Amino acid sequence: MSEGNRIGIGYDIHRLVEGRKLVLGGVDIAFEKGLLGHSDSDVLTHAICDALLGAAALGDIGTHFPDNDPQWAGASSLEFLSRVVEMLTEKGYRVHNVDATVMAERPKLRPYVQSIRESLASALQVDVDQVNIKAKTNEGLESVGRGEAIVAQAVALLIT
Ligand code: MG
Repeated sequence: MSEGNRIGIGYDIHRLVEGRKLVLGGVDIAFEKGLLGHSDSDVLTHAICDALLGAAALGDIGTHFPDNDPQWAGASSLEFLSRVVEMLTEKGYRVHNVDATVMAERPKLRPYVQSIRESLASALQVDVDQVNIKAKTNEGLESVGRGEAIVAQAVALLIT
């Protein structure tokens, strides 16, 4: 562990498909499609995990929770996040704050933002005011704009 503040960045994208539940930040979102992937495919939580792991120089989510490991089939990504927080604690880091953006053309995510913050703050073991979530559309552009995918970006600051 090195002393001082450490910043990390995370990005993720998942394809939107029929027949899957949509979960963002651990919160079930009412929508006719969900994100495709091995776990619950919570793209927001994945981006946050990567930001935290990046800040601690601990690699990325695929290193720790490989998507070919049957153990993680259908797993809640909040479980990944809790495990990441354990790894950070072991290395002597605390989460100072997390900021993230979710880009989805539909559904409207604003009504869910507060529940998502609370869900993530709980898994991160921080106060809600240490977690910010911004929801945007992609203005109809590219895969997100066509409703084919959801993207999330995150930054995290760790302190010793
Ligand atoms: Mg992912």
